[in-house]
Amino acid sequence: MRQTTDLPVRPSARFPARVVLPIALAVLGIAGTLSLDIFWSARSSDAIALNRQIRMVRHAIDASIDQLSQNQEAVAVWDPLFAEMERGAPDVRWIDDNVGGWLHNSFGHDRVYLIDRGGRGLYALLDGRHMAPEAAWRSAGNAAREAVAELYAPVPKPGHLHDRVADRARTTLLPSGIRMPPNAIHVSHLALVDGQPAAISAMKIVPNSAELRARNGEAAGTIVSIRFLGKSFLDELSRRNLLAGVRFTPNLSDVRPDERALSLIGEDGTSIGSIVWKPELPGAFVLEQAAPVAVAALLMMIVLMVWLIRSLSRSTHKLESAMAELRTSEAQAQHLAFHDPLTGLANRAMLHAKIDQTLHHGIGDGGAALILIDLDRFKRVNDTLGHAAGDMLLSQFAARIAQLCTRGEIAARLGGDEFAILMPRGADHVALRSLCQQVLAAARAPFDVSHSLIHIGASIGVACADGISIDRIELMRRADIALFRTKGHGKNNYCFFEGAMDELVLSRASIEDELHQAIRTGIGLTLHFQPLVAAKSSAITGLEALVRWNHPEHGLIGPDRFIPIAEESGLIVPLGEWVLREVCAMTRRWPGVGFAVNLSPVQFLDSSFASRLLAIVEETGADPSRIELEITEGVLLADDEVAGATLAELRRLGFHIALDDFGTGYSSLGYLQRFRVDRIKIDRSFVRTIGQPEDASAIIVAIITLGHAMNLRVTAEGVETDMQHRFLVAAGCDTLQGYHYSRAVPEAELVDLFRDGPITQVA
Ligand code: C2E
Ligand code: CA
Ligand code: CA
Repeated sequence: MRQTTDLPVRPSARFPARVVLPIALAVLGIAGTLSLDIFWSARSSDAIALNRQIRMVRHAIDASIDQLSQNQEAVAVWDPLFAEMERGAPDVRWIDDNVGGWLHNSFGHDRVYLIDRGGRGLYALLDGRHMAPEAAWRSAGNAAREAVAELYAPVPKPGHLHDRVADRARTTLLPSGIRMPPNAIHVSHLALVDGQPAAISAMKIVPNSAELRARNGEAAGTIVSIRFLGKSFLDELSRRNLLAGVRFTPNLSDVRPDERALSLIGEDGTSIGSIVWKPELPGAFVLEQAAPVAVAALLMMIVLMVWLIRSLSRSTHKLESAMAELRTSEAQAQHLAFHDPLTGLANRAMLHAKIDQTLHHGIGDGGAALILIDLDRFKRVNDTLGHAAGDMLLSQFAARIAQLCTRGEIAARLGGDEFAILMPRGADHVALRSLCQQVLAAARAPFDVSHSLIHIGASIGVACADGISIDRIELMRRADIALFRTKGHGKNNYCFFEGAMDELVLSRASIEDELHQAIRTGIGLTLHFQPLVAAKSSAITGLEALVRWNHPEHGLIGPDRFIPIAEESGLIVPLGEWVLREVCAMTRRWPGVGFAVNLSPVQFLDSSFASRLLAIVEETGADPSRIELEITEGVLLADDEVAGATLAELRRLGFHIALDDFGTGYSSLGYLQRFRVDRIKIDRSFVRTIGQPEDASAIIVAIITLGHAMNLRVTAEGVETDMQHRFLVAAGCDTLQGYHYSRAVPEAELVDLFRDGPITQVA
């Protein structure tokens, strides 16, 4: 069968673009967004943490400065110290106990100085040791002296956070949040002292009681404290604020990448170094912790994705190939619905559709035509060689006519041995005749089936649709009528529909029905008899019985029209018996005359056939030796035991056997050696060619020679002309039959035939 399905696009070609890419992009997109999100969260939480740590360090420094002032306030704003300072030479022991020692021991002030109103040092305690006050103060460093100078400056420097100088003393809250009484006047800041960062606070020594203050508004001197932001400060900073690796560095260049630094700015605005620590970065920590998990998750996702894609790919592939299969089987079903499975040609449904299409939309230039083709003698091939052989022959014939359809014609098989060709355009008589000739030649050329060469023929009916309004049913009917006409005129030919043919038409169903009736009642059936004449003398040697059906409406119908129907319906058995019974009766009425009776291969299928013939012969009292049974090669070819046995039995009973239509079937003389017959009848298709371009006279001579060599008598049928007659006589034919001598005539006319003696004229 021809395959018309387009193969589907290979599924794998579209899969990556349609599935893999979107999934990969989605996964990568999600992974990327998540990673960025985590990264940014980590970064901002690091930034927040760092910010907080910076504020903590700054607060610690602020606090250490402010605490210095706060500690001082307890003694600087105090009547007893004021009184002691007022005295001019303070008692060192008292100062140690209540001021210097107390600040050093209780609050860790590294250096404590007392300065009098004139700026001279009165007391100096450095790291808990007394120093000569004046010398110590002089070497206390610029920062300390500047703080004191600023404390007494007529116009205080603006904007110092830790300072509480006279006119700004209203504010009581220091940067570290420490609350100070308004009368604690001080200048406090960070500074480098002996190359070390230190908090310095200088505070005026004033009375705390109102009456003393009222009496003496001036400060009695100044107390200066220095506390180094050294190891103890840094340790405490680390401990209190949970900072790791806290250290001081004078220059920023040695800050390592994993450290953060807070610059310390001195009173004069210059850098005095930096506090450095290893910041605790929760985001980085989280990232560090999360990274392997995230990478593992990403890998798992990728693995999952690959697995997903693969299983998706597999199921997509399966789905698509299932779809492709479906499409293929759909196309096959479509093909089957409109094509004949055996030959691959269009089927009847398709032909109908094409005819409708042509008649409605497109009878092309030159008109359209429908050609119906019926194979002659095909049934015999089927009956004798079997269906497989019949199918082979049909396929070969289909291939041959398909090859003839080169100009848009559509070849179809309508069923059985019926074919059709639709010519949608250019169907003028010349083209049609040429195509019909080609189809006939295609049918006549031998078919190679089961190692035998088989000869058949074809009958063709043509109906044209040249512009007249005609529908499909009418077109088919006309082609059918023309086909019947061809068959009625001896087959193996073609015939165009003509209006006059209409009345000849009989539907097949009604033929079958009425034939049945006729056989049952015997009404309407008659026998005509065609003489066989001796070649040399032209004297009648016998009569071939040919059945006729006188139809009440349609008149005389030839056997070519109804014998095939009788064979197919099985009516041939009772019909054959009727003919034989009539012929037996004739032998009694016509003593001395031999009769020939045609038998159908279908009759041989029944094993009781011979005994039934015998019963008829006995019943009618006829002599079998006066009856010649004409069989066709198909009966012999079947080579089956029933036919062989039947034939032998018939000869044993005394019947003669003639091989009819010789040369048209299988032309195998080998069969003649296996099955004995008495006569061969050369088919009239050979005789017809005598003197024609396609002359078969050589074949005729060969058949006659072979027949005689096998001791058979040879008859030539279909002799119509004197020329044919003379040739056949010269070729050595024994008996002749044909219109040249007489047509088949009713019994009533036989008397005349015999009376006239040897027939030399055309009847
Ligand atoms: P067939 O046995 O070959 O019979 C000869 C046919 O050729 C007859 O046609 C006869 O009228 C025709 N014929 C005779 N001479 C000529 C001639 O010169 N030119 C032409 N063109 N035709 C000629 P018919 O009577 O129409 O019979 C056709 C066929 O029907 C017979 O072919 C035979 O096969 C079959 N047939 C006829 N009667 C019977 C019958 O009783 N039983 C069976 N089974 N078949 C029969
Ligand atoms: Ca015959
Ligand atoms: Ca014949």
